[in-house]
Amino acid sequence: MGKKTKVGKTRKDKFYQLAKETGFRSRAAFKLIQLNRKFGFLQQSQVCLDLCAAPGGWMQVAKQNMPVSSIVIGVDLFPIRPIAGCIGLVEDITTEKCRQSLTKELQTWKADVVLHDGAPNVGRNWIYDAYQQICLTLNSLKLATQFLRSGGWFVTKVFRSKDYNALLWVLKQLFKKVHATKPSASRKESAEIFVVCQGYLAPNHIDHRLLDSKYVFEELDLEAKTKNSLLHPEKQKRIKAEGYTEKEVALRNELSALEFMQAENALAALQGVGSVVIDDERIANHKKTTKEILECCKDLKVLGRKDIKGLIQWWKTVRESLGFQEKKLDKTPTEEVEPKPLTQAGVEDMEDAELQQQISELKEEELKELKRKKKKTLKIKSKLHEKMNLNMLIKGDDGPVEEAEHEIFDLKGIRTDEELKEMLDVEPDFALNDDPVEQPKLDKYKRYDKDDKRLDDDANYENDDDDEDEASDSDEDDENLGKRGLDLSDEEDGGASKKGKKKQRSDNPLIKSSDFRDKNTKRHQRVQLWYEKDNLQNIKSDDEEANFDLDNLTKDLNSKGIQILGESTLSNGADQGERVQGKKAKRRARHAVDKESSSESSDSEEEDATNPESGEGKAKKVRLTESELALGSLLIRGKKTRRDLIDASWNRYAFNDENLPTWFVQDESEHMTKPNPVPKELADEYERKKLELNARPIKKVMEAKARKKRRATKRMAKAKKMAEKIMENADATSHEKAKQLKKVYKKAQEKRKEITYVVAKKQTASRRARRPAGVKGRYRVVDPREKKDKRSLDAKNKRSKGGKGGKGKPGKGRGRK
Ligand code: SAM
Repeated sequence: MGKKTKVGKTRKDKFYQLAKETGFRSRAAFKLIQLNRKFGFLQQSQVCLDLCAAPGGWMQVAKQNMPVSSIVIGVDLFPIRPIAGCIGLVEDITTEKCRQSLTKELQTWKADVVLHDGAPNVGRNWIYDAYQQICLTLNSLKLATQFLRSGGWFVTKVFRSKDYNALLWVLKQLFKKVHATKPSASRKESAEIFVVCQGYLAPNHIDHRLLDSKYVFEELDLEAKTKNSLLHPEKQKRIKAEGYTEKEVALRNELSALEFMQAENALAALQGVGSVVIDDERIANHKKTTKEILECCKDLKVLGRKDIKGLIQWWKTVRESLGFQEKKLDKTPTEEVEPKPLTQAGVEDMEDAELQQQISELKEEELKELKRKKKKTLKIKSKLHEKMNLNMLIKGDDGPVEEAEHEIFDLKGIRTDEELKEMLDVEPDFALNDDPVEQPKLDKYKRYDKDDKRLDDDANYENDDDDEDEASDSDEDDENLGKRGLDLSDEEDGGASKKGKKKQRSDNPLIKSSDFRDKNTKRHQRVQLWYEKDNLQNIKSDDEEANFDLDNLTKDLNSKGIQILGESTLSNGADQGERVQGKKAKRRARHAVDKESSSESSDSEEEDATNPESGEGKAKKVRLTESELALGSLLIRGKKTRRDLIDASWNRYAFNDENLPTWFVQDESEHMTKPNPVPKELADEYERKKLELNARPIKKVMEAKARKKRRATKRMAKAKKMAEKIMENADATSHEKAKQLKKVYKKAQEKRKEITYVVAKKQTASRRARRPAGVKGRYRVVDPREKKDKRSLDAKNKRSKGGKGGKGKPGKGRGRK
């Protein structure tokens, strides 16, 4: 079988087809047919000159493809078999006689196409034959220049050799277009190529050297040699091992290293050089003048491409360090150039240049910094993304946070002298002293005295020091006055609320106060300040001692026509008739009271829940908002008292004037809202906790997932057992085993196919079962009673079991469509 072509046909098939079409049998004929099909030169020609035409295949093709009245003249060393309408000449195309014979035949006529398929009949070696062939081609070209009309075609065969390009160059001088092509009829392994030259230029005068083979090929050949000699030694023709020529030996061709360094072109300097002599100390002692370089310098003729490159690199570095490169830039290296004195403009230019450089450097740095930041952000983002994908992060959950109290050197925590001493006199964890320090023995049990002591958070007894009580609080800053408000009065009542404190704080040893007032003055002044508040201006001074009789105060204010919001909650016994309010005011008041006494309401609701008499007897679930929860926590921790909340209701939002303009009232209703008594951070924390709680998967989902996983594990274990059995089976081939294993594992991984349940309808029940519209996949038609029956059966079973699920909900999740 022949080689397959692109279209799948073998070459033989193709030639067979061609032979069938044209009637020719020779490969030579096929070549011309293919060339002509591509360029179509024969159809346009009347006179054809076929040089080297024997045995006559080309002549025949030409005659067949040219117009009927055309003439074909063939020339060859050997006689050409006679072809109708063709003339055959036996001549050597390189001779003058051939030229004369052709002139005789053609007379004044000119050829439209000159064909040349000549090949020398020698066969010494390929290079010689190629050269002979290319010379023959040049001879045929010479004949063509004499007999071809202007605009005519010249088609020739050429062996691709080193002289091929030279020939192409010559052809391009004489023709408009030159095409080099290799028809498929030409053997691939053959070096022959066909050049089709189109549009003869027919110059009046042709330089005889252009058609002289010695001149055309030898000149160009020489150039090629010098080009490749050093860097491409492997591409050169193999030189016979005859040693150096006499000329080379005599001249020794040495090049001094200094001269080499001074040369403009290293490669050119090494051309034809046998060795480089290191005649300069600076070059010899240069760090780049290695042993290898020295060795290479000894004989350049034996160096390969890599070595030559190494030498060039050495040349570059050494000449740079010797400063030859700078000299090269100067047009007159020997002349010393005097430095020009710097002008003002010159200095400014230099400064500008420096500034420009600095700016560009800064810009670059900025750009780098930006890139770095971007990279960092991207990295963090991708990490976060990864964590989110792995469900490592829950929205709103920040993870464990280091608390300030864990910090060892935190001075904020030190508030008393004792704490400071404790920190300074820290005893080592273990003592080197052999004598163990005697520790006072503690009682195993200690009696708890309700009146005197109390249990702390860790269930240890604490001894409140009453002596320190008095000293407490008196030194708090005035800043706290506003926050604390009437706490001071509580203190005066006996300081009962402060009893719960762990330790009474003395002066912070790390903070030095600039206030030099004594304790009593401070207290007195603070009380004065508090009563100077606007809403308390009208309270009689006698009331100070009356522990803020709020009822009296309310009455007093009411008598002056001032409406108090939340009055109903504060004074239960007040006269209903006295509280004359508009509907709007009532609503607003209720809203304000709701907000302020949210804790109260929740308390009362809880009371209702626990007390069956107060409500309907059934516990009512109270859902507190986040801020309500936060407020509750404040109350529990004792950071806020109920009293605080009531006091807080006495504020500038508590009073309202009557007969106010409508637009003012509307505006006020929008903006006159009291700030939340709960700190924002605390409310946020509760919000975060809620989110965290919501983000957690619910129990049922977790259970379902676990069930799914368990089932999958079971299936895989079963498949594994099956696989082991398959592997043990000695009768099956490995291919069969692999197939079975694949099937088993596929089955194990398969999800349960979902079935759609379709409830049968009365009208369709009697008919033949058909796929209901809109139902895809597996489906089952069920009776409408079936579901109800199943439910009741389940419920019955549950009841009969009794216990837990007796009164519970009926079976869930088993319902069918
Ligand atoms: N084209 C021809 C055909 O179609 O049959 C085949 C040509 S054959 C490959 C090469 C021919 O070139 C040979 O017949 C040979 O005699 C001829 N030849 C070689 N040197 C020649 C020369 N100096 N003058 C004339 N013909 C020559």
